[in-house]
Amino acid sequence: MHAIGIDIGGTKIAGALVDDNGTILRSDRQPTNPHDPREIEDVVVAMIENLAAGENVVAAGVAAAGFIDAAQSTVYYAPNINWRNEPFRAKLEARIDLPILIENDANAAGWAEFRYGAGREYTDMVTLTIGTGVGGAIVANGSLLRGGFGAGAELGHLRLVPGGLPCGCGASGCIEQYGSGRALLRIAGEIADEGPLGSGLRAAQERKGKLTGKDVGHLIEVGDPGAVAALARLGASLGEACASLGAVLDPQVFVFGGGVSIAGDLLLDPIRAAYLEHLPARGYHPEATFAIAQLVNDAGVVGAADLARSAASR
Ligand SMILES: [Zn+2]
Repeated sequence: MHAIGIDIGGTKIAGALVDDNGTILRSDRQPTNPHDPREIEDVVVAMIENLAAGENVVAAGVAAAGFIDAAQSTVYYAPNINWRNEPFRAKLEARIDLPILIENDANAAGWAEFRYGAGREYTDMVTLTIGTGVGGAIVANGSLLRGGFGAGAELGHLRLVPGGLPCGCGASGCIEQYGSGRALLRIAGEIADEGPLGSGLRAAQERKGKLTGKDVGHLIEVGDPGAVAALARLGASLGEACASLGAVLDPQVFVFGGGVSIAGDLLLDPIRAAYLEHLPARGYHPEATFAIAQLVNDAGVVGAADLARSAASR
């Protein structure tokens, strides 16, 4: 049976009609005005109606960045949209004749990886999405782990460095400050100032007056030693965090998504090395698998649709 998945991002809203194999049958995309919650609601309603027209649809799942309550109804807080204690599910259900489910976007994307992507052969998985920030999702014993209040699995805010760099969340030393795309740019800037290793990064910096994420990505692609070293430092921090996560959750697989994950093994190799170095009872603990996410841009809509479908059939 088909379900609809909607993914509300900071600049666009994506939607898709998805079958129970995770295949997208139809899709849609509209720009978002993050300052106008009423407009977002209208766009989401129209998108669900259009995608459902003439189809046998059982439910719709809506993914958005933010803290969502355990009943998957109310968005406590959204970083990109002007939502504070927004009863979004009730508002949508008042206008659409379908069961609706609201899910955190990283959870939805992680669930899609678990069902149809790099996590599909396992029961326990952790995903880390390395974009501008660090997002996370946890699947434990085949179920998405949301926490008692619904706001769990915020893995980007796992403390890695006591007394470390201040984080946007108000705490300090979070893994987001050492393992995100923004952190990669900061580390690359540090290496650019360091001497011979940073010569490629320094040249890129001098050409434009500053270093951009695109420059660093390009230099990694061509194997520039300084840029690859920046990625290795990033991976070392992420691997250390994975060892701690392993001690708590013991996943069989860690899956990495987000823009930085296109680096593939150049990212995974230092992560794996640091994980093994910091793993408790090393040598006696089975090693987890490290993999790159497979669903990329579609993960949010596919995961939201699948979660809504399974909730509706319970
Ligand atoms: Zn934080």
